[in-house]
Amino acid sequence: MPHRATGCAAEHRESLGAYVLGVLDVAEAAALRAHLVGCGACQAERRELAAVAYLLSAAVPDLAAARSLREE
Ligand SMILES: [Zn+2]
Repeated sequence: MPHRATGCAAEHRESLGAYVLGVLDVAEAAALRAHLVGCGACQAERRELAAVAYLLSAAVPDLAAARSLREE
């Protein structure tokens, strides 16, 4: 199984951040989910980000405000 970590990391890592926060485009989220199935690096990244996002949402009540900042 080829290791393509460097090929996908930069682009998908950005999307993963938005994905775990629930602010990623529906189409992009679907594409990312499809990619996650075959990419262990992104799966691990997603798990870490999800843990961070959970902690953040617990610590920052107005995460919704942060979401609207991403609208541009
Ligand atoms: Zn990936």
